[in-house]
Parts: sequence; C-alpha cells; structure tokens
Amino acid sequence: VKRVYAFGKDAQGNNVTEGNTNMKAVLGGKGANLAEMANIGLPVPPGFTISCQTCMEYANADNTWPEGALDTIEEYREDLEARMGKKIGDAEDPLLVSVRSGAPMSMPGMMDTVLNLGLNDESINGLIKQTDNPRFAWDSYRRFIQMFSGVVMGLDGDLFENAITAMKNARGVKSDTDLTAEDLQELVVEFKQIFSDNVDASAYPSLVVDGKPSFPQNPDVQLRLAIEAVFGSWNNPRATLYRKQNKIADDLGTAVNVQSMVFGNKGETSATGVAFTRNPANGEKEFYGDYLVNAQGEDVVAGIRNTSPIADLKHVAGLEDAGRELEEVFVTLENHFRDMCDIEFTIEQGKLWMLQTRVGKRTAAAALHIAIEMEKEGLITKEEAVMRVDPEQLDQLLHPQFDKTADYDVLAKGLNASPGAAVGEAVFSAVDAVAVAEAGRKCVLVRWETNPDDLAGMIAAEGILTSHGGKTSHAAVIARGMGTPCVCGVEALKIDAEKKEASVIGTDIVIKEGDMISIDGTTGIVVLGAVELVLPELTGDLDTILEWADEFRTMGVRANADNPEDAELSRSFGATGIGLCRTEHMFLGDRKQIIQSFILTDDPAVREKALSDLLAAQTGDFYGMFKAMDGLPVIVRLLDPPLHEFLESPRELDVEIARMEATGAPAADIAAKRKLMDQIDAMSEANPMLGLRGCRLAILYPELPAMQVRAIATAMAQLKKEGLDPEPEIMIPLVSVLPELAVLREECEAAIAQVCEEEGVELEIPIGTMIELPRAAVTADEIATKADFFSFGTNDLTQTTFGFSRDDVESKFIPRYLERRLIPYNPFETVDPGVAALVDMGCTKGRATNPDITLGVCGEHGGDPDSVKMFHKIGLTYVSCSPYRVPLARLAAAQAAL
Ligand code: PEP
Ligand code: MG
Repeated sequence: VKRVYAFGKDAQGNNVTEGNTNMKAVLGGKGANLAEMANIGLPVPPGFTISCQTCMEYANADNTWPEGALDTIEEYREDLEARMGKKIGDAEDPLLVSVRSGAPMSMPGMMDTVLNLGLNDESINGLIKQTDNPRFAWDSYRRFIQMFSGVVMGLDGDLFENAITAMKNARGVKSDTDLTAEDLQELVVEFKQIFSDNVDASAYPSLVVDGKPSFPQNPDVQLRLAIEAVFGSWNNPRATLYRKQNKIADDLGTAVNVQSMVFGNKGETSATGVAFTRNPANGEKEFYGDYLVNAQGEDVVAGIRNTSPIADLKHVAGLEDAGRELEEVFVTLENHFRDMCDIEFTIEQGKLWMLQTRVGKRTAAAALHIAIEMEKEGLITKEEAVMRVDPEQLDQLLHPQFDKTADYDVLAKGLNASPGAAVGEAVFSAVDAVAVAEAGRKCVLVRWETNPDDLAGMIAAEGILTSHGGKTSHAAVIARGMGTPCVCGVEALKIDAEKKEASVIGTDIVIKEGDMISIDGTTGIVVLGAVELVLPELTGDLDTILEWADEFRTMGVRANADNPEDAELSRSFGATGIGLCRTEHMFLGDRKQIIQSFILTDDPAVREKALSDLLAAQTGDFYGMFKAMDGLPVIVRLLDPPLHEFLESPRELDVEIARMEATGAPAADIAAKRKLMDQIDAMSEANPMLGLRGCRLAILYPELPAMQVRAIATAMAQLKKEGLDPEPEIMIPLVSVLPELAVLREECEAAIAQVCEEEGVELEIPIGTMIELPRAAVTADEIATKADFFSFGTNDLTQTTFGFSRDDVESKFIPRYLERRLIPYNPFETVDPGVAALVDMGCTKGRATNPDITLGVCGEHGGDPDSVKMFHKIGLTYVSCSPYRVPLARLAAAQAAL
C-alpha cells in the first residue's frame, strides 16, 4: 500500500506532486488541496502527506506503526531534503518543517499541529547563520519547544506562559516582542528544564538521559513523536465530540502533512493571514479576511493580536507584490474549484506562499447569495446552485432577530460574526453554559476567546460573545457552522473568567454571571438586559433559490398546522396544503373543561350540551383553517390523544383532597372530588400511548368523530356558499386493522351526507388514514381499499417499530446509544432505515389495491433533510412538516430529485 504522497516542486522546479483534490479520503482535505494547488501552479511549500489509513492502522494496532511505514516516511523525508537542498537538523542550513493534521472532513482547530520542527541545539546555529537574525531564531526555537511540549507531550501550556511572563517582568517589558535574543535564548534553557521536570520519564523511556527526560535533539525522533501525536489527536475528546456533533464517522482517520516551513515572522516584509475569496457572512463578492505583519502560524486564528483587513495588504510597503499576487490566486482558486474558497497564506520576505485552501464555510445568507451570483457569472449551473445550499443551514435565516421596535441601549459593539440574535444569562465558562442549559435555562457564553475545549459550552449556549479575535477566529468559525449567533472581538469588554464577570472599559458597568444579556450576531450589538426577539422576513435570495428548487422537485411540501395563523405562515413559506391538522390542539384552554364534562358524565343531557358546545367551537376552527388555505387541501385528523391528557392528574387530585380535608371543606365537596378521582383512576392506563387513543377513541365514543365531521362539513358548506374553494380531507389516526377504518369511514360518510342534506350542497371530502403502526404498514393492501389517502405517521411508527417510548427515550437512553454508536442517529430526528422500509412496504401495498391513492408523510421526519431524501426515493407524493421547516423541505426535496 502507498502510504506517503509528495507535493510541491523538486530542486529543478518540476512539480512532483502525487495527489490531487479528489483524494481527500486518503490525503485528508488539507493534503488533497495542497496537492491540487501545486498541480495548478500555485506557490506551495514542498512537503509530503501521510495517509489517513496509516493513522487508522496505527490507532487500531494500539498505537503501533504498520510494518515499513516509518521507512517510507524516512525515504520521503530524505527526498524532501534533496528537493529543498537542506537537511533537517543541519548545523549550517537546516530545513524546518511543520507537522499538521488534516482529516477528510474539515474539523477546524480540533486536532494538533507542531511548527518549527527540526530545531535543536545544533541547527539553531544554522538558522541564526542563514537568517542573520538571532532573535528570530531563538524565538522559533522557544516556540517549537513550547508547542512540542504541549501538543506532543501534553504538558500544561501555563508552565511556559508563566516563564515568559516572569521573564517579561524581570526585564520590565510588556510585550513578547520586547524580549531580546538573549532573553529568548535564556528562555530556551528554562523551557528545556521545564520539559525535563515535567515529562513522565516512565512514559518516554527513550527520552531519558542521565536519569531525566530530556528534550529530543534527534530530528527523526522529533518527527516521529510529532506524527504520532497528530495521529493520536484524532481520538482526543474534543475531536470525538466534534465528529459526533457533525455526524462525521470515527473511522476516517487524519492524514499528517509534513511541510517545509515558511516564516511570516521574518520582519516587516513578512506576514501571515487567512482569507476568503468572497465574504462568508453575506456572500458579497469581495476579498475578505485578516492578516498580521511579522507573525507566525496560528497568531491570526488565535486572535492574540488585532489584525488588519486583507484588502489593505496590497498597499503596505514591502507587501504590495505579494498582496497583488494573492488577489490573482483568489481568482485562480475560484475558477478552479468553482466555489468560494478559504485560504491560509504566509508571506516570507515579500514572497507569497499558499498553506491551505478548501471550499469555505459560510452562513446560510452567504450560501444563497454566492450560489445565485455564481450561477449568474456562469461559473455553475442552476442545478448546482440548488445543490450548493445546505437545507439544514436555511434554519439560520429563520433565526430570531432583535425586534426593530424594541427600546434598548447598546452596551458595546463587536464584529457580527454569526447571524441571529440570542438572549440569555451571561456565563463565563463552557462548564457553566452546559449546567445552565441542562437546568433548562438560556445562556450566552462570554469568553475572552474560545478554543476547542469550549465546544460543549458553545453547543449548549444560545449565543457566543468574545472580547477578542476576528471573524475568522475559532468562536466565529464554529458559531457560523452551528448557526449559533455570535458577536466577537468586543474590545470594550474586559472579561474576568475567574470572577465570572465582565466590565465595560471606561464605565462602571459590570456584567455578572446570571445577568441577562442580548447579542445580535447580524449587527454585532451587545445589550445588557433581555431584548425582545422577532423572526425575520425571508430574503429575496432565499425566494430565488426556492423557486429554482421548485423547478426541480417532484415531491410536494405541506405543513403541519392547527390554527389559521400557522396555516397562513406556512402558505407564505410555500406550503401547498396542510398535511396534518392535529385537532386535539384545538381542545386546550376552556375547551378542556367541555371535553372533561363529556367524558366524565353519565347524564345524556350534559353530554349533549358538551357536544353542541364542541361542535360550535370546532366549526369556527375549521372555518378559519379552510379559509386560510383556500384552494389547497387541509387534512384534518380526528381526535387522537390518550384520554388522560384531558383529565386532571390523579396525583394532583389526591393532594387536593388531602388539602380539602385539612382545611375542613364541606363533606359533599370532598365526596364529589373523591368520585372524580375514582372515575379518573378507573380510566388510567399503564401505557397510555399504546392505549385508548386514535381511532380506538372514536370507536368507543362515536359521538366525538360524528361531531368533528359535522363541524368540518358545516364549515366547508359555509365557505362554499361564500364562493370560496375549501378542500378538507378527513384522516383517521392509529388504525391497525381494516375494520376500524371501514366502520369509521361509514360513520364519517353518514355525517357528511347529513350535512349535505341539511345545507343543500354537494360535499366531496376524501377520507384516509394514518399509517403509523407496523400492522397497518404490513396490511396496507387491505387498508388501502377503504382509504383515499395514506399519511405515514413516522413518529408513532418509529415508536412502535422500535418499541421506543417517544416521550421518554430521547432524554433517557438514546444519548447513551449515540455515544456508544449502537445507533448512528436519533431515529426520531432522521427516519431509520427499518422504519423507512415499512413506509416503502406501505406505499407498494397501498398502490397495489388502490392505484390512485395519495401517499404522504406527516411525522417530524417530514422536515428533516436526510429523511426527505429517503421519502423521495420511496416515491411519496408529499412531505408535511412544521411551518418553519417548509423552505428547508422544499430545498431538500429538490436536491433529492437532482
Ligand atoms: C405521527 O405519529 O407521526 C404523527 C404525525 O402523529 P402524532 O405525532 O400527532 O402522534
Ligand atoms: Mg401519531
């Protein structure tokens, strides 16, 4: 097997690259695109990539090297030395390399990197000689020891930071850059001592010299340990969490890129930066990013110093040429990858080097805008434009924003790093964010700058606020990816994480832990207190993409709604009907009383009265719904929930009776309560979700469906008389055997016929059923003989196929199942293949006996992009989902069809 792949040029300037952009599974994203950039003639520092498969073999063999791998690496190292005309560790002219991770999927900041590898007590002299810059050389050496100790040996970074601080204090200087070459040389000695004192000798016996671990001087040892550390970082906790969060498989492994170092910190004509070929926040066609003069590697991303905008680069003395070349590179990259790219670059003494490129992450708004613009520019087709937008990401556009009419004082302003607004309690650590979220409260995570260890807190928080770092900082990149609102770089905030407070510089305002704050990631505004949030209007770009999507999709999208407002909203989002109106949602509030009196009485007169009250109320409900959806189908589902949902809880009644007795309430009142409790007790079920609900309820209490159907037909008749075009359909829930449906269908038809006669109108109302029990799916051919349509209730179908209680398991054992990877995802979110197979069977059998049957789905899965794709494959007529998911389902349906 080939394990190692060269990239870049040889000594004669010939391209000797062995990989390309299509080899991400082998070379990782970074390695594949370094190869691609070299292939298209961009300036890439030469190096080689060790395959992801080698990482997995190493990990699976308990961290031991596959046979021959180290020899191959040595060959490629020697080849790189020959190509560069320099040797690693050389005392005259040393080659220095970086060792970087690069997985097949982008996992920003999750894994490890070592820079300046190859420095030792000999080669430092060569570096001084070659650069004629002792300060730079010693700074490089101390950075290397520090990074190697942290990344490879796992030592606490504070050990080294404290030594630097002590040195600065001793010299009476403020900044690292004020330390002299001699200071840094002294620090190198101290750092090596820290290394000796803290590395566990038993874990690294090969590093022990004279009884103590010693910083490895042999470059081969440095290189091997660094590669092993990068391999190991694939399985570090934060990388593992990130993969789980982003549904990335655990068995991909990371590649390791060993690349000759170029230096952005060799003085005023050197620089380093990160950039995007277009604005990743709004999609505008402009070069976007930050750079730092005289800085190395991660300084920009780490947000340690404040950066300058990339557009200025070509105006800076000594950097003009590189700045102009960089802009040409942007154009080359966009034309080549036919997409917006994100890049890392370094300018070493005026010469531009490309260190990384990949298709850039972007907000939903930017994704839409870029896709549309690129289609207009002729760079991509309409189909590609539709495929370019992640349906899940559209959610961002539907995120809340500050109510424009709200009254608030701006406390501070920062960078608008990730759109949407958030309101919550200020918390100052990831741990606190998780705790507050677990307690069911909302929080905003406030940090100086985030790092990968903060990930769990970033997921838990409603929003993220940092005082440092640019729009390409960790906080910004991660928040945008998650669609979490983020304001970063709020320099007016002085954050004290220890004390859990933040003060606003120049004022006496202090934000304390637990104080409500609001952030707007679209504008960068921070407010003390809770600002009213509103949901945004859809943008023109979204409409354009959705219109294009509608040209390609073959599946309809309806909404689940049970009031006229939601129905109108979903219509405005493009729903072409209501796929599920859950009528039990119409029985809340005062109406609960009415239905209680219906259920609990023996008196026919009381029952009559309850029914007529319900009839009046329901007729009004349906009138509103059908009017809002005029000309479009509205599937009304007959009452479904278990009866106990309408009744008081026996436990509370018990408490109430005890209280009545204690306070000496009249005996008759107490007796009445007792009777009520006995009645409710008699109706209670061990498994209400598997008990008296759905069509079973309608069969036991035929007055209820009769009343509902009468209300539906009456509302329809009224609207028809007003000249409108109502299109109700009646759906019978939780059917498991054909006779249930047959009996209820007859009763429904009788009720409709009666209204027709009374009102003197003709009413055509299709009657169908939900398929949400395995038995119904398996006998769908029988059931279809009495159904005009099927709507798959995948919530209950998932519950009953797995035998997973839908009300319990998501908080009980599903998280554990996911952690242990017993199931790949939550089956209540994305439809499980086993459940999908039942849907498929239901469709096939249903069509066999009733070729005209309409087939849809109305479980939550109807709004999940991956499930929508599965339903398209099965051949459903439509999906139905909650109103805010309608745009997303339209897009997902189009992508499924393409
Ligand atoms: C279902 O079971 O999928 C469904 C849509 O019905 P409900 O969620 O109301 O049980
Ligand atoms: Mg159901």
